[in-house]
Amino acid sequence: MAKDLSKIAKQKKIKYFLISFVDLFGVLRSKLVPTEAIKEMQKNGAGFAGFATWLDMTPADADMFAIPDPDSLIQLPWKKEVGWLASDLWMNGKPVAASPRVILKNQINKLKRNNMVLKSGVECEYFLIKPEGSSIADSRDTQPKPCYDQSALMRQYDLIKEICDAMLKMGWNPYQNDHEDANGQFEMNWDYSDSLNTADRHVFFKFMVKSIAEKNGLRATFMPKPFENLTGNGCHAHVSLWNGNKNLFLDKGDKLGLTRLAYNFLGGIINSAEALSAFFNPSINSYRRIDAPVTTSGATWSPSKISFTGNNRTHMIRIPDPGRFELRLMDGSANPYLLQAGIIAAGVDGMEKKRDPGQPLFINMYTDGDNYPNLKKLPSDLEEALEHLSNNEPLLSAFGEKNVTSYLKLKQNELKDFNSKETFSKKDPITEWEKINTLDC
Ligand SMILES: [Mg+2]
Repeated sequence: MAKDLSKIAKQKKIKYFLISFVDLFGVLRSKLVPTEAIKEMQKNGAGFAGFATWLDMTPADADMFAIPDPDSLIQLPWKKEVGWLASDLWMNGKPVAASPRVILKNQINKLKRNNMVLKSGVECEYFLIKPEGSSIADSRDTQPKPCYDQSALMRQYDLIKEICDAMLKMGWNPYQNDHEDANGQFEMNWDYSDSLNTADRHVFFKFMVKSIAEKNGLRATFMPKPFENLTGNGCHAHVSLWNGNKNLFLDKGDKLGLTRLAYNFLGGIINSAEALSAFFNPSINSYRRIDAPVTTSGATWSPSKISFTGNNRTHMIRIPDPGRFELRLMDGSANPYLLQAGIIAAGVDGMEKKRDPGQPLFINMYTDGDNYPNLKKLPSDLEEALEHLSNNEPLLSAFGEKNVTSYLKLKQNELKDFNSKETFSKKDPITEWEKINTLDC
């Protein structure tokens, strides 16, 4: 029996609900619904015109309906009378196949049929900047190596505390907050969970950080590379696969602590990495973060080639501890649902085809990567990533050819718009187009 939102509203004194969904470009959309109407909305959903969002629809298409998932309910910690709900999109009585949350659920069901659950945690880096977007918020945050800078962290204490307190209250088990490697950059970590829960929380985290920053007179950005000389915003994921309480990736007898199954899963990710970039690095600006010139801090902390290793952050995949790996490819503009869905889709393909990831490489990729010319390079721009996606059989079949084609069409339109106004070059300054279109990603 689904939870009765109307009853919950009375108990928790919720006056309004945000019935939300995320479109293909990761934009969070919603309707604000008074509690008096939630009973009807819980049953039939809130209506939206799909064409008005980043979904491949026309103005002539029927209404789509966002049916809220009551398990996702969060009372806005900074405005308790509003309840936030993630929802699934329906049209003409069927789920909208191209909706990112539906795509993720389909991948989760594939694992479920084999009694497997993917668990993951995400590390969403962000900058605190001035509202107009041209510089970081804290003009005293100027150290050349600002990572873990205590003073700069504590100058933002009130804001960081408000976000961390909210996560504590929501039961996310946050455990650390720090100043990251770029001036003005922060990261907050909370416990990993199953992939749908992590994706919903990822969506909410971005909304919360932006909202609380705004309340404090600042702006938060997850843009992959908002400043040329500074480290970009990554969104690394730590991944493991479970059967009940058993971690299917853990083999204490292996040198890096992974099972054959885990290596096959990795093999799938490595095999599809260039195509995955189209989802993991979905903005034009994303490619300023990958294979970027050295930053003022001394390292970009982002990958340039497709490789894996032990506890070494210069590779695309790091195995920091037995039983899990960290995928470092994704950036702050990745769609939270397609991020998780992409990991599962490529991983399942790797397990099914028993793909071999090759040998781990124990080198500093930033200094010695060029000595390994056989390693595949990551795409150098969005166009190249889309090209790889259009030819990637595992992702086409996992996400559905029609859905991938829709995504490609929308992204190619975006590229066309950019190319009509600007030229993309990592050597040139970040364009106005990128700032306007990506600062609030
Ligand atoms: Mg980090």
